[in-house]
Amino acid sequence: WKHAPGHFRALLEMSRFHGDKVFLIYEDEHITFEEHYRRAATLANRLVDEYGVAKGDRVAVAMRNYPEWVISFSAVLAAGGVAVPLNAWWTEPELAYGVGDSGAKVLIADGERAARLAATGVPLIVARGEAPEGARAFEDVLGEVAAEVTLPEVDLSPEDPATIFYTSGTTGQPKGALGSHRNLGQSPMTVAYGLMRAVAMAGRDPGEVAGVRRVTLLTVPLFHVTGCFSGLTTTMFTGGGLALMYKWDPEQALRFIERERITTMIGVPTNAWQLMSHPDFGKYDLSSLTTLGYGGAPAPPKLLERITQNLPNRAPSNGYGMTETTALAIGNGGADYHARPDSIGLPSAVVDVRVVDPMGTELPPGEVGELCVRGPNVILGYWNKPEATAQTFIDGWLHTGDLAKIDEDGFVYIVDRAKDMVIRGGENVYCAEVEAALFEHPAVDDAAVIGVPHDELGEEVGAVVRLVPGASVTPAELQEFLAGRIAKFKIPVHVWFRDGELPRNPGGKILKTHLRREILGS
Ligand code: ATP
Ligand code: MG
Repeated sequence: WKHAPGHFRALLEMSRFHGDKVFLIYEDEHITFEEHYRRAATLANRLVDEYGVAKGDRVAVAMRNYPEWVISFSAVLAAGGVAVPLNAWWTEPELAYGVGDSGAKVLIADGERAARLAATGVPLIVARGEAPEGARAFEDVLGEVAAEVTLPEVDLSPEDPATIFYTSGTTGQPKGALGSHRNLGQSPMTVAYGLMRAVAMAGRDPGEVAGVRRVTLLTVPLFHVTGCFSGLTTTMFTGGGLALMYKWDPEQALRFIERERITTMIGVPTNAWQLMSHPDFGKYDLSSLTTLGYGGAPAPPKLLERITQNLPNRAPSNGYGMTETTALAIGNGGADYHARPDSIGLPSAVVDVRVVDPMGTELPPGEVGELCVRGPNVILGYWNKPEATAQTFIDGWLHTGDLAKIDEDGFVYIVDRAKDMVIRGGENVYCAEVEAALFEHPAVDDAAVIGVPHDELGEEVGAVVRLVPGASVTPAELQEFLAGRIAKFKIPVHVWFRDGELPRNPGGKILKTHLRREILGS
C-alpha cells in the first residue's frame, strides 16, 4: 500500500484493506470493496486518458442512488477532478443550470437523467438505461477491469477542491458549495464520533457495537451531503456495508433491515417517522438495528418519544448540518438527547460554534442570534459567487442563517431559520416553535407554519396541518391546545387541514414556497 497524498485518495486506497467484504448493496446486487476500488480506479484512468480530465476539472454526476454513483464519485476524485453531484429530482432547466454553473467537462448520468442532460452538449456517460445519441455507455467506457489497477498520477493537497454540492435551495437559488479534500477527509471521524458517542451515551459499549459489522441503510440521496458524508465516506472508512435505495420507501426499508441485518439507519427525521408508521412495522425482525441517525431538518421531540416506544434500547441521534459544513456539525444522542429532546446537541469533535447579534458580536448563553460554525468541515466558499461567499464566510466563521441559542452547558437549540420567521405586527414568531407545539397534539401527524399577508399586521400566522389517519380535531380545538403552550400572538389564526403528505424535498424539508403558492396563491 502506497500512501496517496490528498485525503480522498488515501481513503480510497485504505478501503482496499476491507477487500472482499461487501461495500455496496443495491437490491440484489452486492459489490465488494475490492470490486469498487478496481472499477473506480479504472474509470479514473479513462477520465484522464479519454476525456482529458485534469486536476480541478469538474465532472458532474446525476443519478439515483445506484452503485455507479459511488464508483463515479470515487473515480472523479481519484483523478484529481472535482465531483459535482447534481440533484436527481431536478428538471431539465435545473440540471442545465447545474451543468452551466459548475462548468462541468464531463457528465455521468443514469438513463433518466441522461435524457434531460443531452441538450447541454457536454460529453455524457450513461449507466443504467439508454444512452442518447452521441453518449457512451458506462460499461463501454470502463471496458475491461484489470485485477491490478493503479490510480492516475496527480498531485493533490488537502486544500484542493474536491466537491461542489448544491445547497437545497430552500431560501433561494441553490448555491454550489465548494468543498476541499480536507473537508471530506474529516467527515468519517466526525460522523463516527457522533454515532459512537450516541451509542456510549445510550448505555451500550461502543467497542462491542463497533465489533459487529456495521451495515448502514441510507434512506436519503447521495447527492446531498448527509448521504455522501454521513453515509458513504464514513462507510468507506469503517469498512461496513452501505445499502442504497432507488428512492425512499418505508416498506422496502423494513424488508432491507431484516434481510441485510442493518445496524444503522441514516436519513432525515421523516424517514424514521414513516418507518414506524407503516402498518407492517411490527411484522419485521428489526433486532439488528442499533443506531438511528437523522438530521437535515427539524426533528420534533415526539419522534424521540416514538422511537423510545417502538424501537427501545436503540441509539437515536439528531444531527445538525448544512451543505456548507460537509454534513454533520452539531449532534445530540443518548442520555443527552433524552434529557434535551428539543436540542440539536453539542458541537462535533472538530467544530466551534457561537451565536452572534446582527453586528457579529458574540451573545451570552440563552440569547437568540445567528448560529456560526468554524472548523475543518467548513467549505472553502461558494462556487462562482464571491458576494455570497463574502457575506456568509466572515473571519473564518460560517454564518448559517439559522437563529439559535446555546445554553449554559453548551447545548445548541435551533429557534428558526432567519428567513422562515413570521413578523406579526413587529413581533417575531418562530415557525419552528409553533410547529413543535402543534406536534405535541396527538392528532397531528405533520405541520408547517407560514406567514399570511395581513394589511395591518404585515403578517399573520397560518398553519397547514396533516392529521394522523382516522383522527379528528377542529381548528378551534387546536388553537385552544396551543393556548396553554405558546403566547397568544403566536397561535395560528388560520388553520388548513390537508389529506396528503406535505410537500418535502429529498432533504426532508417542507417546501414552504410550494405550500404558500398552493394555499395563498403567492
Ligand atoms: P439553501 O441554503 O439553498 O436555502 P438549505 O439551507 O435548506 O437550502 P441544506 O444545506 O441542505 O440547504 O440545509 C441546511 C439547513 O437545514 C440548515 O441551515 C438548517 O436550517 C436545517 N437543518 C439541518 N439540520 C437540522 C436539524 N437537525 N434540526 C433543524 N434544522 C436543521
Ligand atoms: Mg442553507
